[in-house]
Amino acid sequence: MFNFTNDQVEIKKHIAGSSEVLRFHNIDGNNIRYFMEEALKVVGRLGYLGMSVPEKYGGTGLDTLSAATALVEFAKVNAALAHIVNAHSFCFITPLVKYGSEKQKNFYLSQLAAGQKIGTFAFTEPDGSNVNTIRVTAKRINNGYLLNGTKCMITYAGCADYALIFTRTGPAGGGLERSFSFFIADLKQTEGITIGKPEMTMGMEGTQIAEINFHDCKVPADDLLGREGDGLEIIADMLETSRTTNAAVALGIALAAYEEAVKYAHHRSLNGKPLIQHPVINAKLAGMYCKLQSMELNTYYTAQNLAEKKKNVFTDSSVVKYMVAETAKEICDASLQIHGGYGYIKDYFIEQLYRDVRINTIMGGTSETILSEIGGLITQKISQERQV
Ligand SMILES: Cc1cc2nc3c(=O)[nH]c(=O)nc-3n(C[C@H](O)[C@H](O)[C@H](O)COP(=O)(O)OP(=O)(O)OC[C@H]3O[C@@H](n4cnc5c(N)ncnc54)[C@H](O)[C@@H]3O)c2cc1C
Repeated sequence: MFNFTNDQVEIKKHIAGSSEVLRFHNIDGNNIRYFMEEALKVVGRLGYLGMSVPEKYGGTGLDTLSAATALVEFAKVNAALAHIVNAHSFCFITPLVKYGSEKQKNFYLSQLAAGQKIGTFAFTEPDGSNVNTIRVTAKRINNGYLLNGTKCMITYAGCADYALIFTRTGPAGGGLERSFSFFIADLKQTEGITIGKPEMTMGMEGTQIAEINFHDCKVPADDLLGREGDGLEIIADMLETSRTTNAAVALGIALAAYEEAVKYAHHRSLNGKPLIQHPVINAKLAGMYCKLQSMELNTYYTAQNLAEKKKNVFTDSSVVKYMVAETAKEICDASLQIHGGYGYIKDYFIEQLYRDVRINTIMGGTSETILSEIGGLITQKISQERQV
């Protein structure tokens, strides 16, 4: 087991103390928005909406390992909540802290840390989610930019206050590499922005993903994050951390699935003995336990390297995201199997977890995209070695 500090153990207990009010288990569609707003208020009161905000701006400035520990605990009871907190903390706030001007940081960070405002991150578009398919444009006009186009499947788009919008601004010197820029958009107050209806999703219903449409939407130059053309650098920097924090969310779901399986196997009796004493089931649980140990060690080790600001963590972070998300799916599947037919009934939490876990190999970098990135690195390494 990973060697947590006393503070990290306290974080786990602190969040576990509110787990029952945060638990998302088949909430009726009409009540999802209200439930998630209340859950986020609880997270705000506990202080975790400011975990990636430095103390200087009103946050708690947790290191990445402590933050990953917190995300795991949230994901155990409410995967969508953990995902929203992750998007707010590591996809919106972290780039703002690193690339924002002092004026932007002074304006946004304290409201975000206090949980008065929620941030999200908008990259995906109907044509796909890689830089070649980006169609949202930001054209320079007097004192600002004009945004047009559509982002889709954006986490919490209908409720969040702010979003970081990835746009094509055209070459700013240096070709395609400097053709993209991020803008901070106020989703509720900006003319020219409309938000679509929340999509009906298979799981993670609380994320309430929706489209963000821009129709000749004017944004002031002050809302540009970093310099024009910094978009690709900002996204690479953001992914280095968020791939690990995404893994933390998948890990939390898998841990909950394992705990549900152990509980069920302990209470369910078949042929005169608890399920847990049946060798095949016992071995299944042991296999799940071993996988979880490996997932935990990899996730927390990478989070620790990020916390210690070690260099070149990007590939490790991608490996962890891929491995943990894929294995979490296997663990939820095994847990449902142990529940038998009851696992397929909505009364049982595993049914929710099984649906929630499925998106983790897709969002925040699909498994295929990560494999193709890693495959590219292997090819590059081999050709470099051959040249030596
Ligand atoms: C619950 C949820 C929350 C989300 N939240 C957000 C959010 O907050 N912000 C945001 O920007 N997006 C968000 N998304 C969108 C998500 O990130 C995308 O769905 C994901 O990146 C995949 O993009 P796509 O759906 O366009 O699939 P596509 O890119 O069309 O992929 C289709 C298939 O092709 C494969 N593929 C793609 N590229 C390659 C390649 N180079 N090599 C090999 N195979 C490839 C994919 O792996 C996949 O199997 C969310 C989605 C969901 C469902």
